[in-house]
Amino acid sequence: MFSGIHRRKSRQVFIGHVPVGGDAPIMVQSMTNTDTEDVAATVAQVAALARAGSEVVRITVNTLAAARAVPKIRAELDAMGIDVPLVGDFHFNGHKLLTEVPDCAKALAKLRINPGNVGQGSKRDDQFGAMIKTAIQFDKPVRIGVNWGSLDPELIARMMDENGKLDAPKEADAVMREALIVSALESAAKAEALGLGGDKIILSCKVSAVQDLIAVYRDLARRCDYPLHLGLTEAGMGSKGIVASTAALGVLLQEGIGDTIRISLTPEPGGDRTREVIVAQEILQTMGLRSFTPMVAACPGCGRTTSTFFQELAENIQSYLRNQMPVWKSQYPGVEEMHVAVMGCVVNGPGESKLANIGISLPGSGERPVAPVYIDGEKAVTLKGDRIAEEFHALVDDYVAKNYAVGATRKAQSRKKEIPIKQIA
Ligand code: SF4
Repeated sequence: MFSGIHRRKSRQVFIGHVPVGGDAPIMVQSMTNTDTEDVAATVAQVAALARAGSEVVRITVNTLAAARAVPKIRAELDAMGIDVPLVGDFHFNGHKLLTEVPDCAKALAKLRINPGNVGQGSKRDDQFGAMIKTAIQFDKPVRIGVNWGSLDPELIARMMDENGKLDAPKEADAVMREALIVSALESAAKAEALGLGGDKIILSCKVSAVQDLIAVYRDLARRCDYPLHLGLTEAGMGSKGIVASTAALGVLLQEGIGDTIRISLTPEPGGDRTREVIVAQEILQTMGLRSFTPMVAACPGCGRTTSTFFQELAENIQSYLRNQMPVWKSQYPGVEEMHVAVMGCVVNGPGESKLANIGISLPGSGERPVAPVYIDGEKAVTLKGDRIAEEFHALVDDYVAKNYAVGATRKAQSRKKEIPIKQIA
């Protein structure tokens, strides 16, 4: 981890075999959007998310049939050798489902409880209590996940009422933010009073506005030592969802707040659900907090690039490296820290290529049709002709095999990390 960031100290909680909080790396999780009753579709999507790098996957458990499907989903994943922990997302009827289908609780590695959706009035405490007792019985951790869109209406009414009686009442937004935090902390205290260990609780307070999320989590982080799950809820589609999530999470992670993250992207119609995993990994990796896959530095291109060749090569290399990772992870430990540069011309090409482990500077318009390749900061070879892409691929493969095979002597694992930050900027 980049040493300039000091993580907030929190307790450590285990979700199955995955540690969260304490000194554990910031964990990436995701959620399926399949109908959980459809075992085949849910297994396929959980498997895809896990293969993309999701370390925990949450699934909706909303009906009796869905609760009954959970042990089957777990069994099929186990048979495929996919041991990613499953989290059950419960709202409204979780107490009933968990009581009627104890095998569902057994198959899950964590229960997510939304205190705003566990019932009203006198039923609320009983239903919340029933879910906590199930967690205790099966030794499962719980995420108390508060959400702006489903905040406990009785709590918010009480707090608005109290605020109205103050000499200097706060703005309604501030009361709402405080209510999110109070809901999480009061629910955690109730769970502990019922016998759930403090090392079995993770908290989240999700909102959909960047500044609100930052304010809420800063405050929550100061007021407890439970691990915190970060995410901007309902972040939206495409670049808007990615930018908003990155803006919010970037600030909090930089302040050491957050032990696990999820990016709540709305997929484009027919889009790939694994996108949210890749974005989460890229946020952590570009901030220097974790490494998942070799990163490709590529220039944006400009009037000096007259073809799309270099864009295609950059895209091609980036997806090739990501696709290799399931195999490379065990075969070439440390390869996830490798930096590759694909640059469009001689202006910044050689300089950026020298900073990468391996980099290529393609010819811009008016330049000689040659592409120098730099390896560990030195010009190693100059490629030309029609097979530049294939030859560069082969050089990358060769570099990986020589430098990251178990027992290999590495010349430079991560050249960029050796450069002072201010120089990179
Ligand atoms: S490296 Fe060359 S092609 Fe790329 S943006 Fe800079 S000037 Fe343009």
